[in-house]
Amino acid sequence: MMDYLVRAISDKINVIGLASVTTCLVDEARRLHGTSPTASAALGRALTGGLLMGALLKRGQRVALKFEGQGPLKKIIVEADNDGTARGFVAAPEVEVPFKDEKLNVSGALGNKGLLTVIKDLGLKEPYQGVVKFLTGEIAEDIAYYFAESEQIPSAMGLGVFVDSAGRVSAAGGFLIQSLPPTEERTLNRIIENIHQIPPVTELLRQGKMPEDILAMIFSGMTYHFLGKRDLYLRCTCHREQIEKVLISLGLAELQSVIDEQGQTDVTCEFCRTRYHFNKEELEELRREITSGGELSGG
Ligand SMILES: [Zn+2]
Repeated sequence: MMDYLVRAISDKINVIGLASVTTCLVDEARRLHGTSPTASAALGRALTGGLLMGALLKRGQRVALKFEGQGPLKKIIVEADNDGTARGFVAAPEVEVPFKDEKLNVSGALGNKGLLTVIKDLGLKEPYQGVVKFLTGEIAEDIAYYFAESEQIPSAMGLGVFVDSAGRVSAAGGFLIQSLPPTEERTLNRIIENIHQIPPVTELLRQGKMPEDILAMIFSGMTYHFLGKRDLYLRCTCHREQIEKVLISLGLAELQSVIDEQGQTDVTCEFCRTRYHFNKEELEELRREITSGGELSGG
């Protein structure tokens, strides 16, 4: 089964709904980063939330989410774009905390106090940035709170990741509902009521429900139509030239000490764990770029 996202809009009022299944990409992230069950749930929720937010952007735009909590997991960073790809990592993937109410305790790992920073690259000169305090540290509520506080868009979000007894992710997905002006109070209340009545996302997915079914339940009692569907992937944007720039940004003295003390170096991408190796000749080439004022020597 493929991961995908669907978008729908209600006919009478301006309520947009998005729902997704992300089981494959969240399990891929789990394998890539070797995350504990709770860290898998935290990263999976953030990736799914990021992809739902990315689907609201225009082509070429990107969104980055940074959750910094006081818990042992410390930090989750996720980036997503409009074409359905995301990447992310947690600062302490091995961290595990006891269950809470027989469930994975994401806020216990991340912390129920902390900051969510949302950075949107909309292709303008300066990226847009909004910061809110955690509402719960459970990810979905925090993103909904960000929308309400920073963008003044009433939103509801549900995110879920189910980790099986072997530690694998066997269900992941979520939904995002946004009310755009003009708001029709009565219909909006109906949607909120519907959301409160539906079971958790992971339960729905494990029952075999698809994103279309989830939106049908949320829009129950009103007419709506689907706007589109897109596949979702875990994909990193890193490449060797980018890593070279990072090494160059260390500066001459620092790079020289790497050459003198190590003779070579490996740089690992935090998002995808790809290791980039640089031998002595390659490091010396980068050093030459610094001394020539950042211009390529042309050989
Ligand atoms: Zn990467």
